[in-house]
Amino acid sequence: MTQLVDNFQRVVRYVRISVTDRCDFRCVYCMSEDMTFLPREQVLTLEELALVARAFTELGVEKIRLTGGEPLVRRGIEDLVDDIGRLEGLRDFAMTTNGAGLGKHARRLRQGGLQRLNISIDSLDEARFRKLTRTGKLHKVIEGIHAAKEAGFERIKLNAVILKGRNDDEILPLVDFARHEGVDISFIEEMPLGDVSDHSRDETYCSSDDVQSVIESRYQLLPTTETTLGPSRYFRMLDSETRVGFISPHSHNFCSTCNRVRVTVEGRLLLCLGNEHSVDLREVLRRYPGDIEALKSRIIGAMGLKPEKHHFTTDGDVQVVRFMNMTGG
Ligand code: SAM
Repeated sequence: MTQLVDNFQRVVRYVRISVTDRCDFRCVYCMSEDMTFLPREQVLTLEELALVARAFTELGVEKIRLTGGEPLVRRGIEDLVDDIGRLEGLRDFAMTTNGAGLGKHARRLRQGGLQRLNISIDSLDEARFRKLTRTGKLHKVIEGIHAAKEAGFERIKLNAVILKGRNDDEILPLVDFARHEGVDISFIEEMPLGDVSDHSRDETYCSSDDVQSVIESRYQLLPTTETTLGPSRYFRMLDSETRVGFISPHSHNFCSTCNRVRVTVEGRLLLCLGNEHSVDLREVLRRYPGDIEALKSRIIGAMGLKPEKHHFTTDGDVQVVRFMNMTGG
């Protein structure tokens, strides 16, 4: 089988696909309050998305994550999950979601073959949660986490972005919540994507090492080499099954082991989250409808463009003007 290998001998085995730029939340570090969303014809159709997923698995990709925007607001998402869930060669099929729609969708997604869920949650205080997400309701997300567990999802992982002065006093409560729920949790450093007017990123930056010291003031963390093929570095706890992960794009650069590419909601194959190198898959999809070989050859040709690393800094500069909802977080 042809594999996807870049100029630095990294093999691409993991694709993150953004299925919509729309979201029912407006998280302050992710979007501006008055976002303009794409007209429907610019967004890949469900059939196009399914073909993209198939092309990648035929090229050795073993893990697919659906993201957005909020994947659960995309109409027909269950059908897409059914299609991707049937693909041969896929070892890990995951979704990142804000969780608010899981009460409605979890069971059907699990039946369709979705294996894992990452659920974003940055605060356990209803009023603060509302402030950080601008529109979100915490209790809906908690209901969603419970629905996911009931539907049989295992190793559910919570994702929390910690901002100094905003939610850094919730690091331990979030860890305790994860332990109580029997789920994993990863802490993410905020990335300089999109121009957010809500806060100045140099003031809110909170490194993974800072977060880790807070956790270690109460719990011992045991380093592991466990991986879910993503950038998280995992630690085990002595007295719980909960794993604590850190995603540290600033402080622990993980580019040398990068095995990932992303497909944006417009069908741009993005070779690096922190750079603009990309090729247009939508153009091939629409010029040669249904032609998987044409699509695969465009994907193979793109590998030479994957840059060695990203160059994020924490000085408050916007380094990539794309908002995270376009790219797929
Ligand atoms: N709507 C879904 C959700 O809430 O998880 C999926 C999309 S969201 C863009 C995916 C993840 O990216 C979330 O965990 C979110 O917290 C994170 N994220 C968004 N903007 C970010 C930024 N500027 N830096 C770090 N993480 C960010």
